[in-house]
Amino acid sequence: MIEKRLEKFLSKFESLGIDGAFVFKDENRNYLSGFTGDDSFLFITNEKSYFITDSRYTEQAQNEVVGFEVVEYKPPIHDFVASLVEKHNVKRLGVEEDRLSFSDYIVYKEKLNGVELVQLEQTIEKIRMIKDAEEIKLIETAASIADKAFEHILGFIKVGMTEIEVALELEFFMKKLGASALSFPTIVASGNRSSLPHGTASEKVINEGDFITLDFGCVYKGYCSDMTRTIVLGKANEKQKEIYNTVLEANEAALKAVKPGISCAALDKIARDIIVERGYGERFGHGLGHGVGREVHELPYVNARSKFDLEPGMVITDEPGIYIPGFGGVRIEELVLVTKDGYRVLSKSPKHLIEL
Ligand code: ZN
Ligand code: ZN
Repeated sequence: MIEKRLEKFLSKFESLGIDGAFVFKDENRNYLSGFTGDDSFLFITNEKSYFITDSRYTEQAQNEVVGFEVVEYKPPIHDFVASLVEKHNVKRLGVEEDRLSFSDYIVYKEKLNGVELVQLEQTIEKIRMIKDAEEIKLIETAASIADKAFEHILGFIKVGMTEIEVALELEFFMKKLGASALSFPTIVASGNRSSLPHGTASEKVINEGDFITLDFGCVYKGYCSDMTRTIVLGKANEKQKEIYNTVLEANEAALKAVKPGISCAALDKIARDIIVERGYGERFGHGLGHGVGREVHELPYVNARSKFDLEPGMVITDEPGIYIPGFGGVRIEELVLVTKDGYRVLSKSPKHLIEL
């Protein structure tokens, strides 16, 4: 399956107007090659493709990499790339313009005299939007680890704990179940802090009556999960219920509309219209969601500015929220696979308002 990825990328060379590409963004390089380490590079041409690494990774690369000749280099990398450019007579070299540092750019401009550096315009990220069966399985496993951690944390949270204690327990539990890392710093935002959409766990103590927003995910074999649930510690008051149910309604309406062909912008609007109609439009400041895969935030972004339509194999989040400063906030986030006929929800945790 991995060889197909390189083939797909090579098929874009003509429209990009390139005869070579230099790729080093971790997620792109590992996606195309099957490698699981870091600090390595791909040099790709129609004739031949190289996986370039140093002595720390040569053995690992020889075991993992598919479809590339593994070569070891001695730094600096710039000279090695220059020698390959010359060997393969590359005239227009594609680079990841959003990753190449300005200082490297200056060095390459000088060392690759007469070669034009061309922006790859996220070509590999666009190929990565459509997940194959193997990738979907890994994302599903990452999601199921997060689901189990959520179930576990419901029995763990008590009045008087700090947000950090809750986050650590979630993280420890996910790692015990096989997660290699967190998708992002765990968000545990309670009480007034729940109005912070990205309130990373703090020393704040959790009190009776608090909303607690838990937004977390883990990495399993290179693939991320991402889910959010908001619960109430104790009995929810009327205002909390009203906000929760509005967010839930928006989440459900968007979910039901997921199918191939609908635009990401239209999906965002479906959820947003419900929140606007209830008078909370100003309190939903972020987009409805994003793609999830090797990166926790990747294409396609699901917001009003997105130019993408949904296609089978995309994995996106559906995460409307309402955040009221001084009161608190709610977000409910599902991880959703777009299928041929509609969708399949990959996060299985319950979505009704949980009062602990
Ligand atoms: Zn999230
Ligand atoms: Zn998310």
